[in-house]
Amino acid sequence: MRFSWKNLILYSFLFIFLLFLFSSFTQSLETKKPLSLSQVINDVKNGKVTKVTISDNKLTIQEKDEVFQAFKEPGSNVYQIFKDAGASLDKTEVVVKDESGLNSWLNILGSILPVILMVAFFYFIFRQARGAQESIFSFGQSKAKLFNKTQPKVTFADVAGVDDAKQELTEVVDFLKNPGKYKLMGARTPKGVLMVGPSGTGKTLLARATAGEANVAFFSMAGSEFMEMLVGVGASRVRDLFNTAKKAQPAIIFIDEVDAIGRQRGGGFMGGHDEREQTLNQILVEMDGFAPTEQLVVIAATNRPDVLDPALIRPGRFDRRVVLDMPDLEGRKSILSIHAKGKPFGEDVNWEKVAKRTVGFSGADLENMLNEAAILAARLGRKAIEMKDINEASTKVKLGPEKKRLQSEEDREMTAYHEAGHALVSWQMPHVDPVHRVSIVSRGFSLGHTMIEPVEHVHETKTHLLEQITVMLGGRAAEKLIFNEMTTGASNDIARATELARMMVAEFGMSDLGPINLDGENKSFYDKVNISPEMAAKVDLEVKKITDICFKNAQGILLKLRGKLDLLATELLKKETLEAEEFETLIGIKKVQARLKTNK
Ligand code: ADP
Ligand code: MG
Ligand code: ZN
Repeated sequence: MRFSWKNLILYSFLFIFLLFLFSSFTQSLETKKPLSLSQVINDVKNGKVTKVTISDNKLTIQEKDEVFQAFKEPGSNVYQIFKDAGASLDKTEVVVKDESGLNSWLNILGSILPVILMVAFFYFIFRQARGAQESIFSFGQSKAKLFNKTQPKVTFADVAGVDDAKQELTEVVDFLKNPGKYKLMGARTPKGVLMVGPSGTGKTLLARATAGEANVAFFSMAGSEFMEMLVGVGASRVRDLFNTAKKAQPAIIFIDEVDAIGRQRGGGFMGGHDEREQTLNQILVEMDGFAPTEQLVVIAATNRPDVLDPALIRPGRFDRRVVLDMPDLEGRKSILSIHAKGKPFGEDVNWEKVAKRTVGFSGADLENMLNEAAILAARLGRKAIEMKDINEASTKVKLGPEKKRLQSEEDREMTAYHEAGHALVSWQMPHVDPVHRVSIVSRGFSLGHTMIEPVEHVHETKTHLLEQITVMLGGRAAEKLIFNEMTTGASNDIARATELARMMVAEFGMSDLGPINLDGENKSFYDKVNISPEMAAKVDLEVKKITDICFKNAQGILLKLRGKLDLLATELLKKETLEAEEFETLIGIKKVQARLKTNK
């Protein structure tokens, strides 16, 4: 057992307790018949007493076969008492036990023991406090996990369904492997890569795989791990992490869940805000401080790129963005084949079907599902994992805390028409870029997605903005047209359309209200514009006018293109994702591609 003050105190208490127990025990042994002193004197006179033991004030009187006990007055002399009484002790054996030494020792112990205990107690407390303090100081050191090169290596082969992302990362790998090549060209080599994607799509895995491919050291730390209760700890951990990595270069520093520290600075009134800001600043300082010779690449991962501080994504920092999407049918098939390795499967397992059924499953979900299936099969004592185990497991994974539903056939149809609605309306809009991709693969909160250009804030024309709103409402218009039904899936579209319409009215002055800033909300407390309730009501009406017109327009387009809508929806149900070329082959080349904007 290790020595500790806690134990010492415990044992001291035990010792004292035993001491008391012992003394009372010995006392109880000594309970002999009491005898008055005068009786004793009498007995001595009569020669009955054979032995007298004197210890302190206590007399133990031994008679023939009995033992008595008597007490004398403290400080008096026994011999004197007997002599005065005329009793001779000549014939009696007299033993004097000097216990006063022991007694005083006990007394001293009794008086100083509490002091000792107090001192020990306080010492213990202080030690504890100091220990805590020491560990607080050691907090400053990063707790980055270093994945050694000797550990089982993860490579790109272990990550499936994210080919675009892998493609982008091969450049990083190449830089770490042959830095000289880039130096010769005077190229600014990649410093920071931001990995963006919903959780479970393999961001962490891909970061490790990048290190594995390049065969370099890999330092991994989660954003939240920089945060402690003390201000300044995060920053010092960042410093430590970068220093350690610099010594081990070539290396990859991986900051997982960077949004925990990389949120936009300023405007926060919450505690812990300063700490985050300092940590973030330190990361920026470290990244800016890289010498061009340094063979370090920082990879950060997040599923909330929207909340990141713009300073993080400036050139020279996390200026490269690698997007990981939810896997589509092909992606899911290859992910399944990776995780199926090493597991026995029955004859009846149809991977094509499994991949089809698992719309909206991330890589992590699929891995989890196969694991659940294996557990289930083991529990049922099967020899191999069967199709029903996988089905059962997929339901379990989907009904889990994520509340993702397995899409029923109706759901998929609804989603297909919704997305087809977006795609076709955008196909008809002269100023909107052609569709990049239509998909009914679930993504974030929406069930499917249609890639259209993001809204820009500079040099937008009113026409273009109206067209964008129309495209956004195309999903709902299709639902209404085909099923005469409305789904909650369109709520995000509606929110975005409304926001854009409000911006047009209140910020861009693009309504009948004229060129006036009426933006009473969405701004920080300081630069808020105060507008009257009457004006606010007018803004609301204008916004409604815009969305109404756009929605009617979208409905009209879809009604006209009903045949194409059915065609596209059916194809989506079959393939789930259509890339730009496939879309064009099916629907036709976009005819009206007006190019009004010059600044694009
Ligand atoms: P993220 O960091 O994006 O949340 P992870 O990298 O932690 O996701 O993924 C968790 C696990 O899910 C991985 O360890 C891996 O087993 C599995 N996984 C996720 N995506 C993929 C993928 N694209 N290919 C293979 N396995 C994957
Ligand atoms: Mg992760
Ligand atoms: Zn939509």
